[in-house]
Amino acid sequence: MKLISLLDAKSTNLKHYFTGKPCKRGHIAKRFVSSGNCCKCHLITSQKHKVSRRQAALISLGSVCSSCSFSNPLALQIDHVNGGGGKEYKQLGQHGIHKAVINTKLGTYQLLCANCNWIKRYENRECNQATDNPSSTVKDRQHFRQKLLTKFGNTCRICKIKDPRCLQLDHVSGGGSRQRKKSNWYSIYKSALSSTDGQFQLLCANCNWIKRHTNNELGS
Ligand SMILES: [Zn+2]
Ligand SMILES: [Zn+2]
Ligand SMILES: [Zn+2]
Repeated sequence: MKLISLLDAKSTNLKHYFTGKPCKRGHIAKRFVSSGNCCKCHLITSQKHKVSRRQAALISLGSVCSSCSFSNPLALQIDHVNGGGGKEYKQLGQHGIHKAVINTKLGTYQLLCANCNWIKRYENRECNQATDNPSSTVKDRQHFRQKLLTKFGNTCRICKIKDPRCLQLDHVSGGGSRQRKKSNWYSIYKSALSSTDGQFQLLCANCNWIKRHTNNELGS
């Protein structure tokens, strides 16, 4: 990074300056012209706030799945008891939802683990049945999914749960969301069906979330 003194940054209307010297926590990072604070410290504090707001929301809803009592916070999701969560999420964002949960009377929101959330979606048909391949039908997709579940043993590899509504295809070494962006479900299903090299496995939604958080696969 190029060195820019506070004075130079100020005179050219930059937001940041960089001295190359560590902050009091030892980060060698840019600093804000406005406050002199280290950008890395700022990032860390704002991430902490995000986490603690989510924690506060989870605690106010009892910290366990209200349907099966699953308690690993990595797989717990905030659910709108009466539906409509997706729309609200778009309006408020994650931050707003956490705030709403903390400030709303009990009974509006509940915690569900990822598995119970899928089961609820299947039961209420909240699940978006549209496919990203226009030439294929929902039936096709279900047929392929059935074949996949059979091939991989109809069981979550980690916790051995067998409810097909919760089971998901997982890339053993991560990179699943990148592949989903690049190709459609059909080609992914096909490559999983013909794979022999242990590239894919079945995980339930809970184990999948926990794996993704633990391995930092989110957004990869
Ligand atoms: Zn710092
Ligand atoms: Zn549950
Ligand atoms: Zn599992």
